[in-house]
Amino acid sequence: MTAASAECVGGVRIERGAKIPTWFRCGGAADRLARPRDEDELRACLANDPGLRVVGDGANLLVADGGVRELVVSLEGERFTRIEVDEASGRVVAGAGARLPRVINLCVRAGLGGLETLAGIPASVGGAAAMNAGGRFGSFADRVERVYAMDRQGREVELTREAAGFGYRTSGLGELIVTAVAFRLERGDAADLRDRRDEIMRTKTASQPMRERSAGCCFKNPTLTDAIVGVGAAGERVSAGLLIDRAGCKGLTVGGARVSEVHANFVVTAPDANAADVVGLMVEVGHRVRSAFGVTLEPEVVIWRSESVS
Ligand SMILES: Cc1cc2nc3c(=O)[nH]c(=O)nc-3n(C[C@H](O)[C@H](O)[C@H](O)COP(=O)(O)OP(=O)(O)OC[C@H]3O[C@@H](n4cnc5c(N)ncnc54)[C@H](O)[C@@H]3O)c2cc1C
Repeated sequence: MTAASAECVGGVRIERGAKIPTWFRCGGAADRLARPRDEDELRACLANDPGLRVVGDGANLLVADGGVRELVVSLEGERFTRIEVDEASGRVVAGAGARLPRVINLCVRAGLGGLETLAGIPASVGGAAAMNAGGRFGSFADRVERVYAMDRQGREVELTREAAGFGYRTSGLGELIVTAVAFRLERGDAADLRDRRDEIMRTKTASQPMRERSAGCCFKNPTLTDAIVGVGAAGERVSAGLLIDRAGCKGLTVGGARVSEVHANFVVTAPDANAADVVGLMVEVGHRVRSAFGVTLEPEVVIWRSESVS
């Protein structure tokens, strides 16, 4: 990462004009980016900008081409990437900046089951909590015991799973900054857990363009208000990808962004893509699905935009 210049706030180095790494690999930069090493440094960042934004692994994020004015923080320090596995009790605590695949692998190796259902989901623990990442094999929330977070005033808070308000690809964490998550896992056979993890990975790689630049599914699966023949009954949550495919969008392109032929709910980007291409394509897909089926798709991808300072 290149930073044009750097300053210090409360002992935290702040990079200027820093690239925000996302899996789309396009979009704008952060005017200011900080990598706080612990809660005190995060508090200093909040004192500097209470409206700061948190980037995790950038796997569900699109940053508008104009970048963002707010301070962006990335929880990369050792304190935020620690993973503590207590094999005897099955309690696992992972910092918000720890990568979810690494947590899964450590648990599988320790013979602790429950998180392997999330195999193949690129995420930080904090991002996976905020989004309640998951799929047909399970959701992040399933194994959460406690969420540790900081509010915008710099106060540390602790939430039970119920208080965290997890729902379908969402949480009730709102403006809280997740600092760590505790999971309660079950004892299992390490070889069985590894096989299950690998099988889920194979299923994902067979049905999703995992090697291309994307942010996974662009839209949430909608709940139908009226039955659609061949798609689902009223009240049923159905595949957004199926609707996008049936609306004839596979292969649709705007600039360097394209609806994947492998999975219609994935928008993939070429090296010359910009964020406006992705947004333009999502708008066009939304129009086509609405006019074909009367269904309004809700974005799953988080889009960061800031008002320009003139
Ligand atoms: C190839 C591929 C496959 C995918 N498959 C799936 C899938 O099967 N299921 C699924 O659910 N998703 C999937 N995704 C999307 C993505 O993996 C998840 O949404 C994941 O939870 C994003 O985590 P992140 O750390 O990358 O968050 P980011 O993209 O960095 O951020 C997403 C949101 O979380 C917030 N956030 C991040 N960290 C914190 C924190 N510490 N505290 C508070 N808020 C925070 C951000 O501010 C932002 O609003 C896929 C993505 C890709 C690229």
